[in-house]
Amino acid sequence: MKKVIAHWTLALTVASSMSAFFVARAFSINLELVVFAVTAFTLIAAMAVEGWMPFDPLWNAGNGDFKTDATSTVLLLGVVDPLLKAFAPLLVVFAYSNIATRETFTLFPVDASFLVQLVVATLLIELGRYWAHRWHHTNRFLWRLHAMHHSSERLYAVNNFRFHPLNYVVNFALSTFPLMLIGVPADVLFGYMALTQPVLMLQHANIDLRSGWLNYVFSSNELHRWHHSSDSTEANSNYGSALVVWDQVFGTFKFPRKSRTPKRIGLFEQSANYPARAGYLQQLLSAFGPSCCRA
Ligand SMILES: [Zn+2]
Ligand SMILES: [Zn+2]
Repeated sequence: MKKVIAHWTLALTVASSMSAFFVARAFSINLELVVFAVTAFTLIAAMAVEGWMPFDPLWNAGNGDFKTDATSTVLLLGVVDPLLKAFAPLLVVFAYSNIATRETFTLFPVDASFLVQLVVATLLIELGRYWAHRWHHTNRFLWRLHAMHHSSERLYAVNNFRFHPLNYVVNFALSTFPLMLIGVPADVLFGYMALTQPVLMLQHANIDLRSGWLNYVFSSNELHRWHHSSDSTEANSNYGSALVVWDQVFGTFKFPRKSRTPKRIGLFEQSANYPARAGYLQQLLSAFGPSCCRA
């Protein structure tokens, strides 16, 4: 049973999510609701399986960090994300009213088949997220924001939401928002989310998954472990959000076979002054402190 879960969880979760999405689209069911249900189910299931077949049993024992991660989760999903969803369309309308009519400015291939639109949107959003993430590692100011995500010293499902809110906003501004500006349809965006949310919910999970060749396509937990290495030569890799196709293109894909995990998870030596074990608010403000970190 554990073997089946290890090898098939990623594939079956993505396939189930996409099936639910296409059924919902065919029957005009609220797509946002379907994506939310799939996301919540995957996260809760991942948290349950972590206790049963952990990759590293020690990672199931917290050091007081769950409160920080839970606070970040509530604020990102309850405040930051809804605000972005509320204001982004207003900014799009503002841009159109100052540039041209929507009809003349739609650059997205809305006349192509839905599958082609989904592939185009997925590749473009992932390209934006790839560079947003890579710049967060190489730009001094952006690294101050991103250090919060790397400050966790263990990997488990809820890590996925430990992000500085400004990091989250920059990611959105460089990935989804440009697509909205060029007229991507809402159902294509929900299709992208149906494809990628299950991957993201499993990405930090402390589950001993062995996803085989899918590791060369999706940013799985097996790959993402190396991105959280405290050795910067290992961590400055695998920048893709849910896919690693752009890492393959730009030469930053890293899947070492010397072992299945880095020696240590956490911040690199350059960010030694960052308060990795501090509470949420202190971590939030540390990004602006004088000696926080350097990229
Ligand atoms: Zn990173
Ligand atoms: Zn991560």
